[in-house]
Amino acid sequence: MRILVSNDDGYSAPGLEALVSALEGLGELIVVAPETNHSGASNSLTLNRPLAVRTAANGYTCVNGTPSDCVHVALTGLLDARPDLVVSGINNGANMGDDTLYSGTVAAATEGYLFGIPAIAFSLVQKGWEHLPAAAAVARRIVERQLAEPLEAPVLLNVNIPNLPLQAVKGVQVTRLGKRHPSEPVVRTTTPYGETVYWIGPAGMAADAAPGTDFDAIVQGAVSVTPLRLDLTHHEQIAEVRTWAEPLCENA
Ligand code: MN
Repeated sequence: MRILVSNDDGYSAPGLEALVSALEGLGELIVVAPETNHSGASNSLTLNRPLAVRTAANGYTCVNGTPSDCVHVALTGLLDARPDLVVSGINNGANMGDDTLYSGTVAAATEGYLFGIPAIAFSLVQKGWEHLPAAAAVARRIVERQLAEPLEAPVLLNVNIPNLPLQAVKGVQVTRLGKRHPSEPVVRTTTPYGETVYWIGPAGMAADAAPGTDFDAIVQGAVSVTPLRLDLTHHEQIAEVRTWAEPLCENA
């Protein structure tokens, strides 16, 4: 088995090292991770400059680009053979509901999925690494399961793990994505040079945390596993938009 490991917090993040350590023995582990933190990078690719690929002091391969760059370069240029699985994380913080659209952690997994490789993103919900070993143990169990009994392709799983000791984790729940309220306002501040600048504010609180959502599973202390797909088409709206748009250029 060959497992490609990446993340968005950067090659030196504790969550990456914990994930790699936890997966030891399950196969050949290849780590290709961003040189610096790219949380919130979503699926961006770097197209305005070439990418440097270096070996970091910890032995991991790092790329001066985004999470998607890392997996893309690994799959198209660095690896001799396709991996059997792409895993990403363990992220420092939740990737639930709308977070999945912004997340670099999910994006790294998505890049594998787009190449037809099963992929799993792991996030530790509460920031800080207090119970990282427990989260890594959960991640190992899920990866072991996928390797031993692969889900029917295509596979893109979004896993959020509560920051709890292993014995306090209330099992695994398979969920749908919830929804967040809009983000908190930007934070305005002034630089030492007198320029007004703006920090993007924190994510909004949960708006849809109904039973069956990722948010609800986490509130209950459970691990949330959400199967994702990428068809953004609003199928139910096609007929209405057809009636609305297609007459526009009938005489063109
Ligand atoms: Mn991150």
